[in-house]
Amino acid sequence: MYLQRMLIALALALFAVAVLAAEDYYKVLGLDKSASEKDVKRAYRTLSKKFHPDKNPNDESARERFVEIADAYDVLSTSSLRKIYDQYGHDGVEQHRKGGSAGGRGNDPFDLFSRFFGGGGHFGHAPGARRGPDMEVRAALPLRDFYNGREINFLVEKQQICDSCEGTGSKDREVITCDRCSGRGMVIQKHMLAPGMFQQVQMPCDKCGGQGKHVKNPCPVCAGQRVVKKEVETSASIEPGMDKGTRLVFENEADESPDWVAGDLIVILDEKEPELSSSEAERNDGTFFRRKGKDLFWKEMLSLREAWMGEWSRNVTHLDGHVVRLGRSRGQVVQPWAVETVVGEGMPHYSEGHLHDQREDENDEPGNLYVEYGVVLPDQMESGMEKEFFALWEKWRKKIGVDLGVDSGRPIPPPAEDVKDEL
Ligand SMILES: [Zn+2]
Ligand SMILES: [Zn+2]
Repeated sequence: MYLQRMLIALALALFAVAVLAAEDYYKVLGLDKSASEKDVKRAYRTLSKKFHPDKNPNDESARERFVEIADAYDVLSTSSLRKIYDQYGHDGVEQHRKGGSAGGRGNDPFDLFSRFFGGGGHFGHAPGARRGPDMEVRAALPLRDFYNGREINFLVEKQQICDSCEGTGSKDREVITCDRCSGRGMVIQKHMLAPGMFQQVQMPCDKCGGQGKHVKNPCPVCAGQRVVKKEVETSASIEPGMDKGTRLVFENEADESPDWVAGDLIVILDEKEPELSSSEAERNDGTFFRRKGKDLFWKEMLSLREAWMGEWSRNVTHLDGHVVRLGRSRGQVVQPWAVETVVGEGMPHYSEGHLHDQREDENDEPGNLYVEYGVVLPDQMESGMEKEFFALWEKWRKKIGVDLGVDSGRPIPPPAEDVKDEL
């Protein structure tokens, strides 16, 4: 009975291994067969961090994924292996590796990780681990992108571990431990201060420049420096409703070095001054909305007739092209500087924790659009028109004019005579 159970367990275990091994390498990296070398790299960078055991303690499945991802990268990033894999699949790669002439990159997934991110293949949060400086870059975007959301691509110049020598600085990847300092990088020198009196001073080794090791044939790509300056394409996703000043953190994406774990790349989002775009689709009123937090502000001008008599409408084109209709019917007066609240036409709601945090009481409504009205008085009239208006005022002002003192809420001086004045 016991034996039988063990056999089943063993069979299941074998089955699991078989399934794992058969997982398609392209699928593991979330790619298809047309993926470029760059795509493969990018996928590895993202996924290896996500499934790194440091980030998923006690999660055996994440660890397996991490190993799989390294394996998939190893094959798909080596063009000869990739060709074999495309043609013959996993078995072909295995055969090739057994043949001995295989890529031979060494299959330690942590080694691979450190070739990308520096350090010892781990995240730099452990005490004692050296960590490089964080890096900040600013990206200026128009308000439209904050409203609609967008993927942005940009280039960041940063120090990267040299691909060609994999951070060894050596053409043949052979690194020799310095014989003068035995790899410590430091030597003790004795200075004679006086006969029989010595002072011991610790100094960086001059043979290896304090590195503790040197190479015979320096890598031609990085000139033995182990790192190169490169423009790296980075992409970020702007979610609708994100605020300006938002800091997007890309873990371990700052300057790299074999000597430490790369710090974080931080992209700070700025809002661009509005400008009229050359693209027709982007020439809309929304371009000139002003944002404050979740709310948007817009100024709409009315003529004297519109403000006073009503019967007007406006189509304000929003940042995504939808139209917000404003208007009054006849007889509805709009005072200058009046502010109208258009509920829900502000910025979309965005909260950073919206994936795992579903509190009911949180206000997840979009913001409002506040429209302030200005009124333009005509400064020129034809003389006939001027005369008619003047006569009209004369006719009505005495009869039903208003008292501006009362109307504006000022303290009223003792009545002189008939104070009715203006319409
Ligand atoms: Zn040395
Ligand atoms: Zn190099």
